[in-house]
Amino acid sequence: MKPGVRVLAVSGGVGGAKLALGLARVLPPAELAVLVNTGDDFTHLGLRICADLDTVLYTLAGVVNTTQGWGRADESFGFMDELRRQGGPDWFLLGDRDLVLHVERSRRLAAGETLTQIMADLAYRFGLTTRLLPMTDAPVATLLDTSVGQLEFQHYFVRLRSIPEVQRLHYAGAAQARPSDDLLTLLRSRTLETIILCPSNPYLSIDPILAVPGMRAALRAAAVPIVAVSPLVGGRAVKGPTTKIMQELGIEISSLAIASHYAGLIDGLLVDESDARTELTGSVAKEFSKLGIVVDTARTLMSTLDDRRRLAEVALNFAKRLRPTESRTAPKSWSGSV
Ligand code: GDP
Repeated sequence: MKPGVRVLAVSGGVGGAKLALGLARVLPPAELAVLVNTGDDFTHLGLRICADLDTVLYTLAGVVNTTQGWGRADESFGFMDELRRQGGPDWFLLGDRDLVLHVERSRRLAAGETLTQIMADLAYRFGLTTRLLPMTDAPVATLLDTSVGQLEFQHYFVRLRSIPEVQRLHYAGAAQARPSDDLLTLLRSRTLETIILCPSNPYLSIDPILAVPGMRAALRAAAVPIVAVSPLVGGRAVKGPTTKIMQELGIEISSLAIASHYAGLIDGLLVDESDARTELTGSVAKEFSKLGIVVDTARTLMSTLDDRRRLAEVALNFAKRLRPTESRTAPKSWSGSV
């Protein structure tokens, strides 16, 4: 019999994939599934590109370019060179091997397969037993209202290097989307024990997932502890525009703000030690408990594979000590073992 999934990681791209890899190394990989943001997906040069799904796929399969955290290791750029020579848009880098994935996925989508089916098959072909679950099979696009007008995510993030000031975020298409049947089945399964929100960008990577109608409710109805790992280390994002966006949206840059953002969804937040020293004192600690969120601290910076594994273990053990909040219905017994 196939083993059941015990842990669901919720991830964006590079930051999320780091912890997902740690989890895949400390758990039997078939007992892990990763729910991935598709708000970053876009159509470019006629191809459907799913940046976060591909980052998680390449990372778990051990073929990622570890220096940059995305794209393939052992890559060539003949297509890009020729595209540039012929005057095509060259702001989005596509390696030759990477390109094959986009061509294949686009072909299969056009032939009527769902993104969930395609990613399940690709994961298998890359040798994974970990399930990769797109947040939905419907197209959803993260749009940013910025100082230079409305931008699709990749235009903001890659072409304009996150420089424009962000005023508002929208998740176009989310209202018409729904979680896939595979995801809903997993969330109802008796084997699931823990949900871990990876330290992905809460606004650009996790919010699009939570914007899918029914997603929050389905995650909560799983009635298992939900733990998030803060993306802040020493009051800053390790990489990317998380704190820049918080500042621009008028959100205080603190672990408490991350906790407030996920309030009602998570039971526990893992905060980096460096932030705990300054933030988790006296009255602030009380604010967390008012939110119904238990806080714990750990070294959350994942530079090495060992760091990833260690943090994965800490997050799993933290979840073990928590019970899902009482407001949640508990349709199944909670086994508590990880
Ligand atoms: P993207 O979609 O490629 O931008 O990646 P994610 O949204 O998954 O991750 C971006 C977030 O990951 C940023 O807010 C970073 O601060 C966070 N991050 C990256 N590496 C680490 C790390 O080693 N530790 C922690 N705690 N956060 C990290």
